[in-house]
Amino acid sequence: MNPQTLPHSEELFRLMVENVREYAIFLLDPRGHVASWNGGAERIKGYSSREIIGKHFSVFYPPEDIAAGKPAQELEIAVKEGTYSEEGWRLRKDGTRFWAFVVLTALFDEGRNLKGFAKVTRDMTDKLQIQASLEKQVQDRTQELQESNRELEQFAAIASHDLQEPLRTVSMYADLLLSRAKDKLNDEEKEFLKYATDGAVRAQQLIKDLLDYARATASKKEFAEADFNFILQKAVSNLQRAIEETGAEITSDPLPRAQADGVQMAQVFQNLLSNAIKYRGKEPPKIHVSFQAGGEECIFSVRDNGIGVPPESREKIFGLFQRAHRDKKYPGTGIGLAICKKIIKSHGGRLWVESEEGKGSAFFFSLPKSCH
Ligand code: ADP
Repeated sequence: MNPQTLPHSEELFRLMVENVREYAIFLLDPRGHVASWNGGAERIKGYSSREIIGKHFSVFYPPEDIAAGKPAQELEIAVKEGTYSEEGWRLRKDGTRFWAFVVLTALFDEGRNLKGFAKVTRDMTDKLQIQASLEKQVQDRTQELQESNRELEQFAAIASHDLQEPLRTVSMYADLLLSRAKDKLNDEEKEFLKYATDGAVRAQQLIKDLLDYARATASKKEFAEADFNFILQKAVSNLQRAIEETGAEITSDPLPRAQADGVQMAQVFQNLLSNAIKYRGKEPPKIHVSFQAGGEECIFSVRDNGIGVPPESREKIFGLFQRAHRDKKYPGTGIGLAICKKIIKSHGGRLWVESEEGKGSAFFFSLPKSCH
């Protein structure tokens, strides 16, 4: 349009307001009767200007809001504060509801006399629907996950019970056969029977460890404050037999208190300490537990003088069934460190190893909250 042919600015403004489609823009007289109506209002609310001009604006409110006196209250607030805005339900002409963002502005003349109100309404139903559908998706997904976690735990519990039973039978009858038919069996046959018993014992251990792994829940939860000196003591007392048999010496720095699941943390210490004893070198195990607070984390370590972890295995060993030493001297299922990792991760921390082959290893784990 040529600037010279532009209509007067008031006319231009009126044209703009009339033609805006996304917003209902209209005027109310001081008592709340509709005084003007634009194209957006017609599109959003469904009334033509002929139908609505002169009607009270409370026709846009659901009955419960009218009963509560909401339309009059909104006018009052707008008069007192200059403007009133909210998100809420409004009615279309056909009675259906839509979610509206509403701004109501009181209009005064120079003498502060109320001349009426300007009202701008935006239909937010799409936004609300998208939000509701996202919330529903998140809710459904969380429920699915909780359900599959529960199922997995139930499966692990049942599988472990049902699988332990036949394994017990195998080892029991192999033992019985060995003791009854001892004189009739040659050395090789006796060895076959021993293989059968060892296999059953190993499978039982594997099932027990897998069950522990399934139970070491990976979901973050609220933790209570726990004393790590006490937790370490508990782990050490559970390993008393291995400590005596190997002459292991376990020392520790004073440990802090921190937010954690005490039972799970005792399991972490127990796994790390029993590995430090199991993967010992020629010398009796010397193990030191230490602690340092650094920045946002507190870091614990379990250091040993054992055989060490080869460089290529230092990341892998934290995975399920991953083992760096397969010699018969070191029996195991490769699940202990995976359990530790799951527990530490559920506490928001990290787990890693530093090692020098032949000299020893230090397993570190961190907890995110401050310790004291
Ligand atoms: P497992 O001891 O049953 O094999 P883990 O998951 O506890 O299972 O350990 C995985 C592997 O990490 C072990 O097989 C071993 O090779 C290595 N490892 C763990 N702790 C130590 C340690 N203190 N010293 C040397 N190697 C270790």
